[in-house]
This record gives sequence, structure tokens and C-alpha cells, in this order.
Amino acid sequence: MDSLILDVMKDISVKTESKIVLVVLDGIGDLPGSDGKTPLEVAHTPNMDRLAINSALGLMDPIYPGITPGSGPGHLGLFGYNPLKYWIGRGVLSALGIGLDMGPEDVAARGNFCTVDGDGKVTDRRAGRIPTELSARLCEKINEAVSEIDGIRITVRPEEEHRFVLLLSGEGLGPHVSDTDPQKTGLLPLEPQALDPASQKTADVVKRFIGVVKEVLKDEHPANMVLLRGFDKLPDIPSLQELYKLTPAAIASYPMYKGIARVVGMDVLKVEGHGELLEEKIELFGEAVSSHDYIFLHIKKTDSYGEDGNFENKVHQIEAFDELLPRILEKEPDVLAITGDHSTPCPMKGHSWHPVPVLLSAPYLRYDPCERFTEREALKGSLGRIYSMQLMSLMMAHAGKLKKYGA
Ligand code: ZN
Repeated sequence: MDSLILDVMKDISVKTESKIVLVVLDGIGDLPGSDGKTPLEVAHTPNMDRLAINSALGLMDPIYPGITPGSGPGHLGLFGYNPLKYWIGRGVLSALGIGLDMGPEDVAARGNFCTVDGDGKVTDRRAGRIPTELSARLCEKINEAVSEIDGIRITVRPEEEHRFVLLLSGEGLGPHVSDTDPQKTGLLPLEPQALDPASQKTADVVKRFIGVVKEVLKDEHPANMVLLRGFDKLPDIPSLQELYKLTPAAIASYPMYKGIARVVGMDVLKVEGHGELLEEKIELFGEAVSSHDYIFLHIKKTDSYGEDGNFENKVHQIEAFDELLPRILEKEPDVLAITGDHSTPCPMKGHSWHPVPVLLSAPYLRYDPCERFTEREALKGSLGRIYSMQLMSLMMAHAGKLKKYGA
């Protein structure tokens, strides 16, 4: 079904002047707290409330009922791809997210600086979350010590805190290599194993790379070793330009979201600095809306506070977004959707399978009784319960960007 629908989209989509805006409040869906209300219900959101009255609401399953999504698959669904069909490795998301150019033959992995004891056993998988500046210095040290192994170019770049990206460029590399992260402390890092014959060379290069790194980092503390995971190549995904004739832009400050946006062909606008940067994002939005017809605006902290179980701060983050919403509305997007990539309920301190509320503001909506953008109100919404990947064609239709199918 999913490849069929993408073929249809390619045929019936048209380029128009209309603007589509997708706001993703990461991990927005939640469960009732002690007083029986969710953060969306507790939050004071006069602007979203006003918008909800004239919008269509519903609930979306990011992947499939009962499946808890990672943010990667959660976003792929929102961009109209079946997340069960398309997969983007963590290493690729990280590499693209920090702006590394990946060729089709390259393999990327995500790395952690970690701490090991005298026996080589992992005592801290994140090396005490060393600051990004220290990561950057260690990456430089590694790059100086090893730039090539067996004809494969080696690039190591810092991400945030203890995280970095390893990029292998050259010929004959397969992407299927096992993680070296044992996932628990008290264990030795695992040997990288080729999971198919085509990936043997990759595994051999990685083994030798780890050998060099061990030497380079042996006198460092706390970051005296590395763990690697999520080896992958660029996926073969048709772009949003190709499928929908869109000129899409992404406004996100965290590397992974920039990475996934780049994979589907979005212009990733430069958000300076680290953190949420709401104000800066809204300003960028104001500029992007004149040059792009699809804008993805990502807000991360709703998810982080859900992960921390911090109900109160999740409420504040929702309210902070609500205050800035008028600045999105004043640009008069033809279609605006507000939703999440998955739920991150505070009581669960992690992602969950619960469907996420979605608000669709557009012309030509039918009657919809919802008065607020909340999980409970969304239950009554006219969109009913759909899959996240179905939002894309709905937004396209409401923006007048889809021709009739058949005569
Ligand atoms: Zn997420």
C-alpha cells in the first residue's frame, strides 16, 4: 500500500504557491498526572485553544497500534513515509545531523566516549557526559592519529557531549556491522562483527580503528575508550521534492532531526547554538516561509521533560510554544498541523505507543467539536484515528496541491 500511495502522490501532486507548516512538539502525547490531567490539559494555551476551535483534530498512531517508536521512525511517518518500510540508521542520522557529507558508499556509526577500568571493562558508558568541547579535542586527537585504514578514509567528528560520529569513506564497505556497546557497565566492549559477508571489510577496518583509539585515549580520563553503534549507509528514500514537488525546509536544533530532514531532501536551516532556541527558530521560520512551501518546525524539550518525568516543565514548554504560536499564524500558512512524533508520558519516563493528538488548521474543514488541543479533545475530533504517515497527503490536499485521481 505504501509504495502504491507514494507512486500516486508523484502523479497527482502539483507545485503551487500555498504553504504547509508542520510543527512537531516531540513526545507531546502523555498520560494523566495526579489530578487526572495531561500536560496539554494543564497547560494554559489560549492561542492553541483558539486555533483548535476552528481546526480538525484526531489521534495518530506513529507506526502501528502498540508499537513504541523511536524519534527517527516517528518523524519518517510524519513526512509521509511508512516507517515499517524505510529505515535510517542512527549513525546516518547523526552524520547528516552534524553536516557531514555522506556518499552512497560511505558507512557511518554513532560513537560514545566511555570510561573503562584497568581490565578494560566499561564503568561509565557516557564518560560522565563530558562536555562537547572535550569531545571535540579528543576527536581531533583521533583524527590526527588515524586518517586512513586499508584505503578507507576515517573521519571522527564531535556531536553533543560524549557523542561523536565515525564516518568511513571508500569502496567495498557494507553497512551491517554489530554494535560494540555492551549496553551495560561491568562488561567488556563487544568486538565489531560483520553481519553479512559484504560487511567484512567494514568490520575489519572498525576493529583496527578501535585498536588505534585505545592507544590514543589510554592516558585520558574519564574518556579513555569508545563504543560504537548504529552502523549504516544512506537509505534509498525518494525525496519530498520528487514525491510532492515541494521545496521543504527544516528548522530544528538537535542533530538527529536535522539528519532525518536532510535524508528526505529538506533544506536544513542553520540554527546557531545549542539547546531549544525557540525564539531563534521562530525568527528563522519568518524568513523560511517566503522561500519554502513546506516548513517542518521541531521542538525537542517536550520530549526531554517527558523522559525526565518532569510534568511541570513539560507544561511550561507547551506554554512557551503557545506564546510564540501567533508569530507562526501571522504568516498565514495555508495549512498548519501541530502534533508529535510519538508520546513520551511523564509517568513512563520514556517513549510509548499511545497515539498522539494532531491538530489540522486549513480551509475547507468539516464540523469538528474540539475546543482544545489535548489528547481527550482529540478523541472527539473529525480526523478520527489515523496513521501518522497519512497526515502528509491530508496536508497536501488541504493546501490544494493534489489533483484528482482518475477521470
Ligand atoms: Zn521524538
